[in-house]
Amino acid sequence: DLWQAKGHIRFQDVEFGYASGRTILPDFTLDIPAGQTIALVGTTGAGKSTLAKLVSRFYDPTRGAITLDDVDLRDLHPKDLRRAIVMVTQEAYLFSGTVADNIALGKPDATLEEIEAAARAVGADAFIRSLPDGYATDVNKRGGRVSAGQRQLISFARAFLADPAVLILDEATASLDMPSERMIQDALQTLLADRTAIIIAHRLSTVAIADRVLVMEHGRIIEDDTPAEL
Ligand code: ATP
Ligand code: MG
Repeated sequence: DLWQAKGHIRFQDVEFGYASGRTILPDFTLDIPAGQTIALVGTTGAGKSTLAKLVSRFYDPTRGAITLDDVDLRDLHPKDLRRAIVMVTQEAYLFSGTVADNIALGKPDATLEEIEAAARAVGADAFIRSLPDGYATDVNKRGGRVSAGQRQLISFARAFLADPAVLILDEATASLDMPSERMIQDALQTLLADRTAIIIAHRLSTVAIADRVLVMEHGRIIEDDTPAEL
């Protein structure tokens, strides 16, 4: 049977340091109710990406625990974990292959109809159809003929198709023109609905749509508020 996660994430007294060096998170405690959108901001080296990697289990805490629906991530079956928690990073937006293949990474057995529905949901369908071979267009590793904003939309379609309970997004820093910026924000709103999200936010517009903004410094939260209060 497939386990269906709700998406309640909790860090309990988490300590973490990379094997080679100093402690990055000395004592981190945070409760993220299912369905909440968190924008994570803070200075470079604060530990934002480290936090994202811990939730995705690239690493485990050296002390304390991270739980999903009150289950320690270390006790989850890897298959359940991969289905429940998906991380979208700016380095891995596209792989070589067709646009359809790239979207289907979120659900390898997806039909073309499902792939197209995911693209439509995040507003990527129109530009994909305008590509030389539509969904069958080959994209090379660096994204070749698709722009930074379009790459991000394709990765959103992939995440939408995967439909995880928890989405972790390391937002691209690349600057976009206004129409693309607008499209990304609309797509993001659709993508965030009905799931827990932790976004390492680089855009003010993303911070604005979050339920809660956490400001990090030296592995600690120094502010925890709604966007309006900041
Ligand atoms: P940025 O805004 O620049 O992306 P960040 O808040 O994401 O910063 P992290 O990448 O989490 O910060 O890094 C936190 C600290 O951990 C930094 O001091 C960094 O040098 C260190 N660090 C990150 N990755 C590793 C690693 N693989 N091995 C050792 N130290 C690392
Ligand atoms: Mg980072």
